Amino acid sequence: MSEFDFDLFVIGGGSGGVRAARIAANHGARVMLAEEFRYGGTCVIRGCVPKKLFVYASRFPDAFSDAAGFGWQVGDSSFHWPTLIRNKDAEIARLEGIYAGNLEAAGVSLVRSRAVIEDAHTVRVLATGARIRAATILVATGAAPVRDRTFPGSELAITSNEIFDLPALPQRALVIGAGYIAVEFAGVLAGLGALTSLVYRGDKVLRGFDDDVRTALEQAYGARGIGLLAGRTVSRLARAQDGAAIEATLSDGTVTTVDVVLSAIGRKPNVEGLGLEAAGVALKANGAIAVDGFSRTNVPSIYAVGDVTDRANLTPVAIREGHAFADTVFGGKSWQVDHTVIPTAVFSTPEIGTVGLTETQARERYGDVAIFRTSFRAMKATLSGGSERVLMKIVVDRASDRVLGVHIVGEAAGEMIQLAGIAVTMGATKADFDRTIAVHPSAAEELVTLRAPVA
Ligand code: FAD
Repeated sequence: MSEFDFDLFVIGGGSGGVRAARIAANHGARVMLAEEFRYGGTCVIRGCVPKKLFVYASRFPDAFSDAAGFGWQVGDSSFHWPTLIRNKDAEIARLEGIYAGNLEAAGVSLVRSRAVIEDAHTVRVLATGARIRAATILVATGAAPVRDRTFPGSELAITSNEIFDLPALPQRALVIGAGYIAVEFAGVLAGLGALTSLVYRGDKVLRGFDDDVRTALEQAYGARGIGLLAGRTVSRLARAQDGAAIEATLSDGTVTTVDVVLSAIGRKPNVEGLGLEAAGVALKANGAIAVDGFSRTNVPSIYAVGDVTDRANLTPVAIREGHAFADTVFGGKSWQVDHTVIPTAVFSTPEIGTVGLTETQARERYGDVAIFRTSFRAMKATLSGGSERVLMKIVVDRASDRVLGVHIVGEAAGEMIQLAGIAVTMGATKADFDRTIAVHPSAAEELVTLRAPVA
């Protein structure tokens, strides 16, 4: 008889935890997984998936207005928020069922409860009080929105957790933040018809993205009527006299009245009350769990994957970290996730797709880089009359000709960057891009027809 109840105890049934549990079980491990909220985690329940469904909803007005130039007369249109919420909820419930079903089919024992660590091999399941002994513990507890409590009335602001269940679409919205979640929700709310502003401390949205991308997005958002209140913060929120609206006072003294304030200023790793101190697990300065390339903490029997480790906080990364952990510890196949090239999208409208280094990063690391860039009106805009521009940019190391980064702003940028990401991951050179035959007529063909560097 083993001294352990399970080979692996996974805390958290989100992207990383579910993948790790399933793969470990497939390798023959006896696995228990605890989830305190809903299977699927942030991505499925209140992140990527419902967000993308909202993004689709928000883009229909563009399609309706584009249609006229192509001969279509679209009748009066109206939007019904409760229908979107109901259908979104049904889809999320369906996906949650699939996640739980897949875990059970793999033989994973599921407990719907909060779990906390008691020592290097013991986890306590709070719902039952059971103490489970496991040879290995995997922490995959994700992250949660930071709630800024530093100004009066801050409790009136909601976070991304609540926006998915608002009873009604706000007519006026203020989004605090400039990261990708803030930018995406500003786009969604504006697309659905809310008068929307973004307020942020810095001078530009999307810190860390390529500067041309940041500028292009700001221009597009400005043209779409989204207020860009840069260099400001919220200093006070208060209920308006009608008892429903919110008056937001900004650091420059201006007051704006809105129906919803969404705070999207960042996320913090879920480590509180998890028992990590008791087990002696070391954290990084920002509170995330410190791990090595194999996702191992300083305690040999405890590992951590996903957002709780704050490496690259994206679902595909958490999934891959969970998979690598399970293969390494239970599958006899040791491998590490390469975090250097990560294609990613921002589902703003227009969309952003990006992979590899920004121009600034490339100049810092490689010195001599060539920049290929184009900005053009998409073909569809010729008949629809739209004025929005598509941006494409390729960053190349002059010495090796290797493509270091690709950045796209425009329709389907997220889809395009997944494929460009293959080339960049393979180490493609600019010459490889150039000898690729174009798909015509498409926007993507610009990626293989950019001949002369602009810098
Ligand atoms: P999570 O998916 O957060 O799962 C952690 C789970 O652990 C949760 O279900 C939680 O309830 C549970 N838990 C926590 N503590 C305990 C405990 N003590 N006991 C039991 N259970 C516990 N990523 C993308 O790649 N693309 C996107 O478009 C995208 N959009 C996003 C939009 C929003 C609004 C947000 C918030 C995130 C988005 N992300 C996106 C990020 C993505 O959701 C995360 O990177 C991903 O979910 C991380 O997976 P994880 O396994 O680390 O954690």
